[in-house]
Amino acid sequence: MKIAILPGDGIGPEIMAEALKVLDALRRNGLKVETESALVGGAAYDAFGHPLPAATLKLAQDADAVLFGSVGSPKHDALPREHRPEKAILGLRKECDFFANLRPATVFPELADASTLRSEVVAGLDLMIIRELTGDIYFGEPRGVSGEKGARIGVNTMHYTEAQIRRIVHVGFRTAQQRNKRLCSIDKMNVLEAMQLWRDIAIEIVPEYPDVELSHMLVDNAAMQLIRNPKQFDVMVAGNMFGDILSDEASMLTGSIGMLPSASLDANGKGLYEPIHGSAPDIAGRGIANPLAQILSLGMMLRYTFNLGEWADRVEGAVKKTLAQGIRTADIAKPGETVATTAQMGAAVVSNL
Ligand code: NAD
Repeated sequence: MKIAILPGDGIGPEIMAEALKVLDALRRNGLKVETESALVGGAAYDAFGHPLPAATLKLAQDADAVLFGSVGSPKHDALPREHRPEKAILGLRKECDFFANLRPATVFPELADASTLRSEVVAGLDLMIIRELTGDIYFGEPRGVSGEKGARIGVNTMHYTEAQIRRIVHVGFRTAQQRNKRLCSIDKMNVLEAMQLWRDIAIEIVPEYPDVELSHMLVDNAAMQLIRNPKQFDVMVAGNMFGDILSDEASMLTGSIGMLPSASLDANGKGLYEPIHGSAPDIAGRGIANPLAQILSLGMMLRYTFNLGEWADRVEGAVKKTLAQGIRTADIAKPGETVATTAQMGAAVVSNL
């Protein structure tokens, strides 16, 4: 098993260093993995004139999985769009055909009061949203604005092929198999033909996964249910636009951006794993960033690419124990609580492994 390590910019290298300490501890306990690092984002632009140099892309393509930090910095914001650090992620997604975005929303009981919702609504939440990344209204043709001012028409097209729907719904079923075996498929079949096709295909696939219970929900109701009673869900699968909106809504249920990992997977389970947050230039270089989203991204990689659920449980268990011990970085500490540095949080997770 080979992992490409791409720390990136801002807090990326700081939090990646802690995830690598966790990986080293797992290796000392018998996990067999190789790693190789490369520059990406603004750091790669400064060294090689491109945010995704050919050697970095090749390393990612040849590896079984990519552990990605974060990219972007104010210093690179004025560059032409194709040289901006953020282009690196889009390039990796496209070149590696990462079409399935997995975003967990997990609320550790100790952090339930960080949410804007009442703590009893979110405490213990453990939900996975799967978003399709290659189709839908974001890519469908025709598109554009035409006509004279005063009578212009704006058009975008919701477009899904059977194959695109099928492969993302399969990811939904397989993910549910690794969790609590309940999959909720999100659509808008009451008004959109493309979404009727989505639902028909989801139903067709059911017999292949007799151990998973499939339900369906219209997206407007899903948006409401996520706020009303988010703990009713195990895995949700949605198209590109609905998944985009629902996954952001779900991440806010947790109230702490520094805690949430994500994965983008291809058809064979190879994936890019990264925190949902960015490079946090406002706190970079100060050693105070929360490394838990990066560490949990490593846990997701063990579960979803390497099928090492027990090793993933160990990583998640060590994070839970660390939180239960009251160890907090600044972003999740309450006023007056002692604040741990990035390195202290990483060390605590390692010692709890
Ligand atoms: P951000 O996620 O970097 O930061 C938002 C806020 O959350 C900041 O106050 C930051 O300090 C805080 N925060 C984020 N991660 C944290 C952590 N681990 N610990 C403690 N606090 C944390 O979003 P932004 O400020 O809008 O964007 C900054 C840069 O990151 C931009 O260049 C943006 O384009 C880029 N970005 C990259 C990615 C990615 O690499 N996938 C994603 C989003 C944004």
